[in-house]
Amino acid sequence: MASERQINVGGVLIGGGAPVAVQTMTKTETADLVATMAQIRRVADAGADLVRVAVPRDKDVEALKTIVRDSPIPVIADIHFNYTLALKALDAGAACVRINPGNIGGPEKVALVTQRANELGTPLRVGVNSGSLPAHLRELEFENPVEALVCAAAEWVELMERLSFTNFKVSMKSTSVPNTIASNRLLAERIPYPLHLGVTEAGTKWSGSLKSAVGLGTLLADGIGDTIRISLSTFHAEEEVKVAWEILKALKLRDRGPVLIACPTCGRLQFDMDAVVAEVERRLEAYEDPIEVSVLGCAVNGIGEARHADFGITGAKDMGMIYSRGEPLKKVPTERLVDELFAEIDRYYAAGKTVVRDEAQAADAAAWLEENEDATAMTPERLATMEAQAARLDEEVSPVAGRRFTRA
Ligand code: SF4
Repeated sequence: MASERQINVGGVLIGGGAPVAVQTMTKTETADLVATMAQIRRVADAGADLVRVAVPRDKDVEALKTIVRDSPIPVIADIHFNYTLALKALDAGAACVRINPGNIGGPEKVALVTQRANELGTPLRVGVNSGSLPAHLRELEFENPVEALVCAAAEWVELMERLSFTNFKVSMKSTSVPNTIASNRLLAERIPYPLHLGVTEAGTKWSGSLKSAVGLGTLLADGIGDTIRISLSTFHAEEEVKVAWEILKALKLRDRGPVLIACPTCGRLQFDMDAVVAEVERRLEAYEDPIEVSVLGCAVNGIGEARHADFGITGAKDMGMIYSRGEPLKKVPTERLVDELFAEIDRYYAAGKTVVRDEAQAADAAAWLEENEDATAMTPERLATMEAQAARLDEEVSPVAGRRFTRA
């Protein structure tokens, strides 16, 4: 289902099996070079592969020339509906230009843009929004918004092909998560071009992240989508990038930085885990390696489902334990848990990614774990494991084992 075609956006491959690229859009006035470049550097540091800037005026085109030259990542120009700005953005060196063929003045204007893009070898993004469908699809939009969106995208794809232009990706944006999922599934079956995914105007950091995770996550899990943008109502574009990465990491599509595992806490919690998790998350931002770090609210569950974590901590009232890959490392006072955890992580890297174990401390920690563990307690993790096991049909213990119906 992944796109067959691949395009190259300023050195970042999109589609055709390339890793799903993360992009975002600056929220600054593009012509404000200082603010725009500062934001581009921040999103690049956060892991954006591509950045888009709005180019609604000639003075933004002027700024674009400098931005393209100085940006650490390829820059996409968003010209919305003005074809002359598309031509100028191409000449300014944008790595890609986003157009909506439905609102830039007809096929002749589109042809001028594709001709110039062809000459320069620059790809285009063909964008369709549920809010700006062509007039002849408005009735269909009322009856079947998904089909209307897909029809609009398919029509623009046909126009591009008639103009002998195939160096493009397609985006269909809707504010509705079900429509985003359904329309991209349909379009992925119909066209071979890379797809840019996003839930448009998704909302605040909280609700927008969830909507995007559900919509984009569903598609990405099906293998649909070649580049993603999380649209959040925040001036901090790097937050969009962080959410995009969490989605890709959760689906194991790409690795970037550590993975934090934390229990949901319950009535057994014995220390201030909220603050500890937040501090661990903050300090992990300084690491690039995809290690797994786990925080468990109590030791009743032993090391439990966090057994595979590279490093972890679990706490009790005044003491806690640091462990690595299921093995206790040391027992430390609760208030030193985070510092000691990071001391162990740093020791691991200093030793060339080898866990450094002090046997006496490890034995002390193992004894502490034994005292604090209760193998009979019904913890949330144990209940989840039991439910998962019960859901699995085991023919050996099934009441219908050996009673398969067969026709004589
Ligand atoms: S029982 Fe599980 S969920 Fe509850 S605090 Fe302990 S580790 Fe966390």
